[in-house]
Amino acid sequence: MTASLIDGKAFAATVREHVASLVAGVKAEHRITPGLAVVLVGEDPASQVYVRNKGIQTVEAGMASFEHKLPTGTSEADLLAMIARLNADPKVHGILVQLPLPGHIDPDLVINSIAPAKDVDGFHVSNVGLVSTGQKAMVPCTPLGCLMLLRDHLGSLSGLNAVVVGRSNIVGKPMAQLLLKDSATVTIAHSRSRDLPEICRRADILVAAVGRPEMIHGDWIRLGATVIDVGINRIERDGKTRLVGDVDFASTAQVAGAITPVPGGVGPMTIACLLANTLTACCRAHGLPEPE
Ligand code: NDP
Repeated sequence: MTASLIDGKAFAATVREHVASLVAGVKAEHRITPGLAVVLVGEDPASQVYVRNKGIQTVEAGMASFEHKLPTGTSEADLLAMIARLNADPKVHGILVQLPLPGHIDPDLVINSIAPAKDVDGFHVSNVGLVSTGQKAMVPCTPLGCLMLLRDHLGSLSGLNAVVVGRSNIVGKPMAQLLLKDSATVTIAHSRSRDLPEICRRADILVAAVGRPEMIHGDWIRLGATVIDVGINRIERDGKTRLVGDVDFASTAQVAGAITPVPGGVGPMTIACLLANTLTACCRAHGLPEPE
């Protein structure tokens, strides 16, 4: 392996410590406890793990965690009514509805019913518009975490060729917007892109957010490129269930300059950024200076 490892786990721990110290200050000086409400509908096992981890880390950061677990058959109207209550609750500064939702519920309707100021996932159309026009917004946690890792590793991204593979609303598109704002030259690739390996080979920065285990190989990578692997895929190998990314780590690490591992790369940054967004939402709600 020649690539250096971008240790998202360690970086996320420093972000969480920083958030926790700021939360302690807000509580001591203003007697306000930032609060995050997480809503889970249904029994999806991966979602249950994510929600549990979010709750634990919210409490560890000194914030209040409000978990709402609803049965799979919950009606759209009942879910919207719950969100309306959370929107009106002054103890709740951030609201996250865990995706995916059961098929009978329209996710866009639900996400756009969250008050934009409490939309700590940054998926509401208002926040999407604000991010894409470079205005103050709630920035989606996973792309924000990727950007923090890139800035930490590379310093300025200005003028670098960035390729984002994947165009989802929750990762690919906002990632591209953030890279553009940092003056990278951005290409977004997707399932209809022609000659994906060739597109990837142009990348100084490659962000993979595809959901296909180990799809991107070392011979797609430019020598010395920085590779951010967002993918979280469960596969069976040697009779065991393993987590792998969208990038084939072994071959890519021979060519790249730096790479995030899976697990221990982007995943921990996502929750750290969620905590940071919740603190930001709390400070904005109470007219306090924004955390840096
Ligand atoms: P989506 O399924 O919503 O989007 C996948 C994207 O990849 C689509 O734009 C799709 O293209 C594109 N794609 C699919 N197959 C190919 C292919 N063969 N070649 C090129 N592009 C392709 O996934 P998400 O964006 O939600 O998530 C992506 C990955 O990131 C998943 O593994 C997910 O688990 C992980 N993830 C990790 C997070 C973390 O915290 N680390 C948070 C969120 C997601 P098209 O639009 O044309 O269909």
